[in-house]
Amino acid sequence: MTTMQDNRPATLLKGGQIVDGAGVPGWTGDVLLVGERIASVALPGQTPPQMLADLRATNGVEEVDCTGMVIAPGFIDVHTHDDAAAIEKPDMLPKLSQGVTTVIVGNCGISLAPVVTDAPLAPLSLLGREQFLHSTMRAYADAVNAARPGVNVAALLGHTALRMRHVAALDRAADEGERAAMAADMQEAMDAGALGLSSGVFYKEAYAADLDELVAVASVAARNGGVYATHIRDELAGILPALQEAALTARQSGLPLVISHHKCAGPDNWGRTRETLPLIEQLARGQEIGMDVYPYTAGSTVLREDLVDGIIDVLITGSETHPEMGGRYLADIAAEWRVSQQEAAVRLKPGNACYFQMREDDVQRVITHPLSMIGSDGLPHDERPHPRLWGAFPRVLASYWREKGLLRLEEAIHKMTGMSAARFRIGERGLLKASYMADVVVFDPLRVKDGATFEQPRQFSEGIERVWVNGALSYTASDRATGARAGRFVMRASSPTASG
Ligand SMILES: [Zn+2]
Repeated sequence: MTTMQDNRPATLLKGGQIVDGAGVPGWTGDVLLVGERIASVALPGQTPPQMLADLRATNGVEEVDCTGMVIAPGFIDVHTHDDAAAIEKPDMLPKLSQGVTTVIVGNCGISLAPVVTDAPLAPLSLLGREQFLHSTMRAYADAVNAARPGVNVAALLGHTALRMRHVAALDRAADEGERAAMAADMQEAMDAGALGLSSGVFYKEAYAADLDELVAVASVAARNGGVYATHIRDELAGILPALQEAALTARQSGLPLVISHHKCAGPDNWGRTRETLPLIEQLARGQEIGMDVYPYTAGSTVLREDLVDGIIDVLITGSETHPEMGGRYLADIAAEWRVSQQEAAVRLKPGNACYFQMREDDVQRVITHPLSMIGSDGLPHDERPHPRLWGAFPRVLASYWREKGLLRLEEAIHKMTGMSAARFRIGERGLLKASYMADVVVFDPLRVKDGATFEQPRQFSEGIERVWVNGALSYTASDRATGARAGRFVMRASSPTASG
């Protein structure tokens, strides 16, 4: 997309605590935004005077007193399922209101492109039903730009989506012809600026995929400078071999790996981040590996009786057969119906649920690990979404930095900005740096806090004061969305046509 020149006044953010996204401690200073870019990051009063004089003489300079506030790069939500939401609900308030300025869609093997259908099957139906209209990544990118979402959108191509399009029988691995068809779609997506490939071999629709199939597609992403993000095959008892498989797939394909929403799920598995994190560290000595994490002990996905063990709490977030059960616990429903929890789950399907399958010490070990970055994994189409959709980023700041003191502020911000842009090859974002795109958040470090809960999942966060996307003031704490909707489809830094 070409640079849009405009005659808006410049914006000078004055006297805030600058935490620039690189992971270094904050310092007091001023940030100048001109058009869609950051023009200067300077000590207080040290913004180049000639630059300010020229701006004052032309479009003017609006000053924003940021005393007591943190000025940071806009947050990058590396793990989202906002593919359709960015088009259907383009204000993107659940994300913008957290200070998020870029979302990465297409995670867990699930992407809109290149599937065209009016009856998407699970797990693609996590993206809703209306937007499976894009047979190429290019068409999806055009649809995003036409929708003018409130935040930027960068995209992974989903392996499960490719299987649904090209593999005749999902209970087996792709044959040679099917692999070639999937690889051709992968090339198209990379040409259109996709970040790389995602997979969700955890889901039964992709479970039969073998190493040959995954490498055939992933190596196309590798040749084009992409990344590989995966929801591994098993986050329960078989987590160690599943991590090994993910690392092997990335290594054989020649791709950097991102392990999605790293967790040790299920009571038998609690505490095992003491094993998984050392394994990830060991693997990361031989290849590039990162991971994402959300700050909650509950996960959320489609309703599946095999994830119901009768021990953990399961909160029904939506049911097509019994919509009235949304917001209730499976144990209570099962008792009322006088059936087992598994049987109740079968009766409630298709639906979605939150599974309280993690333990806090594991979550803390992953969040504080130097290889982790923050991704919400929010599900925007659920009637009663997991609160991570509206609250993940402020919750990390409130709970893991300010209250528990487990992260330094600059570390927490780095995991939401600079590290995220570097791992996913997003150029000119994720840092407060002159010439970078002006994606910026100003927040109150004493007040920032998530508002969303499992009972009240659609609540604004507190303390997110102002958010700029591509230089446009897009959110304020007092007026919420400004209507600017200045987001766009963001191409990976190495793509042939990337600009801005
Ligand atoms: Zn996932």
